Amino acid sequence: MYRSFLIKYAEIAVKGRNRYVFEDALVSQITHALKRCEGQFSVHKAGGRIYVDALTDFDFDEAVESLKCVFGIVGICPMIALKDEGFEKLGEEVVAYLDRAYTEHNQTFKVMARRARKNYPKDSMEINADLGEVILNAFPEMKVDVHHPELTVYVEIREQIYVYSTIIPGPGGMPVGTGGKGMLLLSGGIDSPVAGYTIAKRGVTLEAVYFHAPPYTSERAKQKVVDLAKKVAKYAGPINLHIINFTDIQLYIYEKCPHEELTIIMRRYMMRIAESIAKETGCLGLITGESIGQVASQTMQSLMATNEVCELPVYRPLIGSDKVEIIAVSEKIDTYETSILPYEDCCTIFVAKHPVTKPNLKVIRRHEENLSEKIDTLYRTALDTREIIKVTGE
Ligand code: ATP
Ligand code: MG
Repeated sequence: MYRSFLIKYAEIAVKGRNRYVFEDALVSQITHALKRCEGQFSVHKAGGRIYVDALTDFDFDEAVESLKCVFGIVGICPMIALKDEGFEKLGEEVVAYLDRAYTEHNQTFKVMARRARKNYPKDSMEINADLGEVILNAFPEMKVDVHHPELTVYVEIREQIYVYSTIIPGPGGMPVGTGGKGMLLLSGGIDSPVAGYTIAKRGVTLEAVYFHAPPYTSERAKQKVVDLAKKVAKYAGPINLHIINFTDIQLYIYEKCPHEELTIIMRRYMMRIAESIAKETGCLGLITGESIGQVASQTMQSLMATNEVCELPVYRPLIGSDKVEIIAVSEKIDTYETSILPYEDCCTIFVAKHPVTKPNLKVIRRHEENLSEKIDTLYRTALDTREIIKVTGE
């Protein structure tokens, strides 16, 4: 029965000069998200609102699911659009709408009219009262409750007249494309996809890097990361995933540095490489899934040691989250089942029995000097031989 949606977005975000940037990004993200759906749609803004019209047959549930992934949307309102053929006709149409949309007609309700077109003969108060009466006459068991109605019938008088009564919650946040670009260090774990999602929610476009260590990590482990990127891309839009062959660097560190410092030194190289690609691709920061105290490499001392090698800011949106909270988000965004697939991870293979939890920066720097002979070449080769996969949401 619905052919159109009214899209609500947070008013606060669109104040002032940024309004057009915000709205245009939202229109383009909605257009992009609906490409995944059956049917064709027109997405347009008019009068401070965004509308989606189906131009062909479409699957209602599928379209709503896609819209629920578009950051910036706070409400999705399936609506009917009517030609203005006088108030009496409007009353009939609204009654017909309620008849089709609801099986029972015994709710408390109110009418909320908005007269955006000022030449309409009734003002919004009159529309509320008069339409309320029409509804009461048609459905005598319904009752008006202006304070806590079970049903609100929204009527917007514009060039056409829009009627809706459901607001499906959207994901909130800011439209992707309004917040610059960030480089996500994406592993196959639970945390980093959630970190990417969380930052994308603030309007940030993502680029991603995965450190692969063949033959110690398998093709399946890599595919798992590609699959996770696809799931994040459903929200964040297309992601360029840079796959770095990290094996030679890891083996070299393994050969030259104390084993209890392997993880920290390896993570410092991951950050350096991620930063090189970030700068090359115009990213304004790095994003990781780290959370204080989760593992030895995430104590404050260890985080300080990994942070030291970066010039760009490092965003760690999960820094204060517990694992259960992170898992709840990963279930919501459907990355959890993929994340827990038991494929090997490049960090776990070279991990020491007793990694340092309070690395001493001076010591770490000194041990990194053991790498001076070959590390620059290995670093360059890792960057030059990287594979780049353009991942889109499905
Ligand atoms: P995750 O669940 O995200 O893998 P984790 O709890 O396993 O995190 P670590 O392995 O210490 O924690 O990694 C910390 C962060 O470093 C990750 O959240 C991710 O951002 C980054 N990272 C770790 N391994 C890789 C990798 N192989 N490729 C890209 N980034 C990685
Ligand atoms: Mg991990």
